[in-house]
Amino acid sequence: MKMQIDGKFVEAFNKEFFDIINPATGELIDRVPKGTEDDVAIAVEAASLAFNGWASTSPQQRAGILYRAAGIVRQRKDELAVLLTQEQGKPLAEARNEIEGFANVLEYYCGLASSFHGDFVLIPQNGYAFTVKKPLGVCAAIIPWNMPALIMAWKIGPALISGNTLFLKPASNTPLTNLALASILSEAGLPPGVLNIVTGPGEVVGENLVKSLKVKKISFTGEARTGKRVAELAASGMKRVTLELGGSDPMLVCDDANLEDAVTGALRGRFYNCGQTCTAVKRLFVFESVAEEFIKKLETGIWNLKVGNGMHENVDMGPLNNSRQWEYIKELVTDVEEKDEGRIVTGGKVPEGGAYSRGYFFEPTLVVDVPKDSRLLKEEVFGPVLPVVRVKNLDEAIEAANNTCYGLGASIWTKNIDRARIGCEQLNAGIIWLNQHLKVAPEAPFGGTRESGIGKENGPDALSEYLGLKTVMLKT
Ligand code: NAD
Repeated sequence: MKMQIDGKFVEAFNKEFFDIINPATGELIDRVPKGTEDDVAIAVEAASLAFNGWASTSPQQRAGILYRAAGIVRQRKDELAVLLTQEQGKPLAEARNEIEGFANVLEYYCGLASSFHGDFVLIPQNGYAFTVKKPLGVCAAIIPWNMPALIMAWKIGPALISGNTLFLKPASNTPLTNLALASILSEAGLPPGVLNIVTGPGEVVGENLVKSLKVKKISFTGEARTGKRVAELAASGMKRVTLELGGSDPMLVCDDANLEDAVTGALRGRFYNCGQTCTAVKRLFVFESVAEEFIKKLETGIWNLKVGNGMHENVDMGPLNNSRQWEYIKELVTDVEEKDEGRIVTGGKVPEGGAYSRGYFFEPTLVVDVPKDSRLLKEEVFGPVLPVVRVKNLDEAIEAANNTCYGLGASIWTKNIDRARIGCEQLNAGIIWLNQHLKVAPEAPFGGTRESGIGKENGPDALSEYLGLKTVMLKT
């Protein structure tokens, strides 16, 4: 597989490659170029040269291309899902969902093609003003490995429909689906240079991209620590940034909640994508009066989850994506045991048996009675471990839930309207779910507060992240 610069598939300047490994089997899937500073400069230049042409097409023409691309993606959903499962590890059903999500997001932004017009503003006694919205120029999209297709769409949808050109930097572990999707966009008629992809290490490709003087905006999704580094680099060029960072989402289960629904929500919320979702349920607070019953049901649900190679249709949870994550989760659970940071009810080990021997598998794990200062509650647990804390009432649950540096999502499970309202008002998060968790939609703005980031993706608000607003004042 090669990088895509200016509509051509090319090798890196230094002719070096790195391996893409299947996390379920340890097998080599492909090799991609290890991009260099020179590759970044060439791709930025290509995006810069393509900008005037692309910006002068009508939004409807752009929508025509993106809509065609979404159609091709739908036709090839199954083969793209296989590629995604092979490089990322998620079960095929989840991969198909994600590919469909890519098409849905593109189509949503095609529907907004005529919507980004300016305003007419009457100025009392002195005339009027109008506002004009213009694309920014070359934008950079830097994305992680957990949902590479969906997050690619969250960035290219609003960026391209509003007339910007793009440089996309995929995660080092999962560039193949991104490259395949970019190739479909070219096939659908996207002009050369409008979308460029350079593969390679974040410290080289990512940093040089952020520093490039021709890049006007950076949309970054990844860890909070990397996001801070990106923000620091972007600040020197006073560039616009959108930062979609980590989270440690709380789920609050009240004593009047429908416990069956809450258990289903917790299982999906925590173990979808092997726990590697930014808005996964990472801390669960349950009222003590229903805790025993809830934990029992949860334990049974976890027992029924089938762990295995995502390529097999009946699998519920695949492996972790990479060795770093795998080592981290193993270390975390060892700490729980050694430092007495809770009681492991189920899971807690690397599964045994031949099928698991070469992948980054870990059992879905339930830890209860977790003390307040546990690493499980303080860090972003990006893997299949669910810490459960018993609380007396809603006040205690909200206080504990807000005791984090993050503020991405949160859910409250109750039938009581007052409790729901209080949760919505008092939980510090960019997205609050009522009696559900994890659901995202192209129509609904998505983004965190505090160390979970700045700015929004999805919904019409995401367009303004990629448009400059100019005010023209006229005197009468
Ligand atoms: P990461 O921060 O390690 O990497 C993200 C991207 O940044 C990759 O493409 C990487 O190569 C690049 N990068 C690394 N160092 C860089 C640097 N110095 N300069 C520029 N780019 C650099 O994150 P990850 O491990 O790939 O992803 C997991 C994280 O992403 C989790 O924290 C998760 O919560 C978060 N995430 C957030 C959202 C959201 O929308 N809020 C969505 C998905 C994932």
